Amino acid sequence: SAVTLGGPQTRSEAVVIGGDAAGVPVIAGPCSVEGEREILAAAEACKAAGADALRGGAFKPRTNPYSFQGFGEDGLKMLAAARDATGLPVVTEVLTPTDVDLVSKYADCLQVGTRNSQNYKLLEACGKSDKPVLLKRGMAMTLDELLQASEYVLSGGNQDVILCERGIRTFENHTRNTLSLSAVAELHRVSHLPVVIDPSHGTGKAHLVPSMALAAAAAGCDGLAIEVHPEPAKALTDGAQSITPAVLAELMPKLKKVAEAV
Ligand code: PEP
Ligand code: MN
Repeated sequence: SAVTLGGPQTRSEAVVIGGDAAGVPVIAGPCSVEGEREILAAAEACKAAGADALRGGAFKPRTNPYSFQGFGEDGLKMLAAARDATGLPVVTEVLTPTDVDLVSKYADCLQVGTRNSQNYKLLEACGKSDKPVLLKRGMAMTLDELLQASEYVLSGGNQDVILCERGIRTFENHTRNTLSLSAVAELHRVSHLPVVIDPSHGTGKAHLVPSMALAAAAAGCDGLAIEVHPEPAKALTDGAQSITPAVLAELMPKLKKVAEAV
C-alpha cells in the first residue's frame, strides 16, 4: 500500500511511494545538512535535476564520536527552510525516542538508520508519530528481522512504514556494503509495505550508484534514496558515494524508462 510524504500540511508537493504510484520517486540530497546555504543549494540542485523529495541528516549516527555529529535542531530548521524554497518534502533521521516529536515537527518522513533498526524503543516512539517512517535495514539484519522491526512501528498505530534496503555487511570489500536487490521482490512477496533502495550506502561508491539505481528500478522498487552533493569532494560525510546533481539529472529519464518497462 502507498505511503505519502509531504502535502498541504507542510506546504510541500505530496510524493506517493508504493501502491499503484507510477514511476520511481527519488529522495535525493546530501548525507548531512552542512549549513543553511549549503542545504538550500543542494535542495535547489536536486529539484532542478528532477528529484521528488529531499534528504539530509541533522542528527548523524557517526561511527566515531569525534566525527561531525550534525547540527541537530538547527539542521532541522535548515531542512524546513529548504522545503519552503523548493516544495520538496523532507526525509531526515531520528536517533532517539526523545527526539521523535522534535523531528516530526520539521520533517515529512522520519528515517530510522541501519544502526538503530532494532532500537525497539525508538521504533515504538515512531509508531506514535503522525509522520511516515523510512526504516532502513540493519547492516546485519535478515529480512524477517526487518519485517519484525517494522511491526514495532505498525503496531504502535503508524501504518506509514517504508522499508529501505541499504546494503548489508559481507566479505566483499570492493563495495562498502553488499546491496541485496533480491530484497525488493522478496519483501513485496511477503509484505504490503513499499520498498525503497539506497544505492549510495549500498555501494559506497558514486560510480556504482546509477547502475544500481537502474537495477533497483528494474527489480520493481517503489523509490530510491540517493546521496547527492553539489561538490562531493567537499562533503562533510559520505562524499565518496555521493553523485552530483548533473549525474542525477542524467539518471532520472533513464529511471523513468526502466520504471515504465517493468
Ligand atoms: C544516511 O542515510 O546518511 C545513513 C546514515 O544511512 P544508514 O543508516 O543506512 O547508514
Ligand atoms: Mn550517508
